[in-house]
Amino acid sequence: MRKIVIAIDGPAASGKSTTAKYVAERLGYLHIDTGAMYRAITLRVLEEGIPLDDEKRIRELAERCEIQLVRTPDSLRVYLDGRDVTKEIRTPAVTRAVSAVSSYQAVRDVLVREQRRMAAEGGVVLEGRDIGTTVLPQADLKVFMVAGVRERARRRRKELEQLGVQTDEVMLAKELEERDRLDATRTASPLQKAPDAVELDTSNLTIEQQVEIVVRMAKEIIHNKNERND
Ligand code: C5P
Repeated sequence: MRKIVIAIDGPAASGKSTTAKYVAERLGYLHIDTGAMYRAITLRVLEEGIPLDDEKRIRELAERCEIQLVRTPDSLRVYLDGRDVTKEIRTPAVTRAVSAVSSYQAVRDVLVREQRRMAAEGGVVLEGRDIGTTVLPQADLKVFMVAGVRERARRRRKELEQLGVQTDEVMLAKELEERDRLDATRTASPLQKAPDAVELDTSNLTIEQQVEIVVRMAKEIIHNKNERND
């Protein structure tokens, strides 16, 4: 069986992580959450008290941090220099600062290099903002996931609730829109649909449905590759 590369991009809370996780599980592929990598760097920036506009120190920090994504039977754990930071990278403080940190080209260069290395063997599902446009423009399948902002805020509130954080949906919607605005308007690899990506609106889909759609598209590509023997 040919192993392909799947790129899933889209705005915040559009369902990328959940979909990528299950698609990877169904195909026996590796799930690479690139947002978690930007979040891990951001956590360290905050811990070291580096001002968000200090590009030089942030670049140096990105170069010396070691990030590892480790799959366990029930979750994807994120390690920063050997320390499990899976929970800490989801705090509101990290979420508020991550767009500023990820806007620096030097930070992206470090992480994109690592992402390409992880994807080199194929059999991967990468999710983020710039996978189909910049990280892996040759990906076999590109999906751009979208959903209405109210639905995205509802999903994010539920997720946070499960982590024991109570939040307000209106405020969350504003934060999501602001983060998307920053991610879509930065100069370095902005959030953008690749021209050859399939747009998938998940507003009215269940998780099972969106996973099924992506798995079906992937299987068709794998089948065609096997037929052509390429
Ligand atoms: O996907 P998630 O919401 O965890 O991503 C957090 C942030 O990381 C995004 O808002 C964006 O600023 C940044 N990011 C990025 N490029 C990626 C993935 C995430 O700039 N490929």
